[in-house]
Amino acid sequence: MKRIVPVLLVIFMIFSGCTAEKTSDKLKITTTIFPQYDFLRTITENVDVELNMLISPGMEVHGFETTLEDIALISDSDLFVCVGGEDDEWVKDLPESETKILTLSSMVKLTEDDHPWTSPKNAITITQGLCDSLCNIDPDNAQTYKNNTEKYISQLKKLDEGFEACVKSGKTNTVVFAERFPFRYLAKDYNLKYFSAFEGCSTETEAGLRAVNNLVENIRREKLPVVFTIEFSEDTVADRICKETGATKLRMHSCHNVTQEEFDKGETYLSLMTKNLENLKIALG
Ligand SMILES: [Zn+2]
Repeated sequence: MKRIVPVLLVIFMIFSGCTAEKTSDKLKITTTIFPQYDFLRTITENVDVELNMLISPGMEVHGFETTLEDIALISDSDLFVCVGGEDDEWVKDLPESETKILTLSSMVKLTEDDHPWTSPKNAITITQGLCDSLCNIDPDNAQTYKNNTEKYISQLKKLDEGFEACVKSGKTNTVVFAERFPFRYLAKDYNLKYFSAFEGCSTETEAGLRAVNNLVENIRREKLPVVFTIEFSEDTVADRICKETGATKLRMHSCHNVTQEEFDKGETYLSLMTKNLENLKIALG
């Protein structure tokens, strides 16, 4: 996310008098991106809360610019949840308010990059951390939050076991991404070896010839059946590599965000990661 425009921030602070007043009695929670939104949606099931996601479905997370409306929404919230990595430096410039700011980086160490949720093991830790914070802020509903969390974590544990078993029984542990690679935590936690066209969440879209040749070579040498692409991708590199190697193109969803269609269909972190696991099974053979 980009930094808040300082001038707009000053104007906002003048007009809001720095302390935004809450407009409703309902617990108001705002998140930046989809993973924490989805975790909180599950934890708060059956409790009447207002849950907002700053980045609407379909929006590219990395080009996001904070608006005055976003800042007002954050200031009016009881809880604001962001990743807390490099992309969230702008949060430090938020006007003072009574909003509790919670970062994923306070629950899991960001050792790789800013996508800790891509490992179900981290998703479990994050979900528990979010539940603990909610119970502190809203003790009246603590039991419901705890029950929901317990049920959800048992599902996440099944997902975690699924990934463990998949890598263990696979003929290979190598995956090729003709794309960016936001799955470092997944690779690290489940012992996956990876080759990708671009580093991390680079905004590059034109892969160099050398990078493409390197991927093709690895696919041929290890006889890999699958080339991965990620969501919101035009698949140009993947299509090129599939044509050259005969490999099948499959998608791994990084859950940064979902499309409006996926959102309306009720896709969740769990449903998307379960599909990822199915595709990984095919890729590892
Ligand atoms: Zn990213």
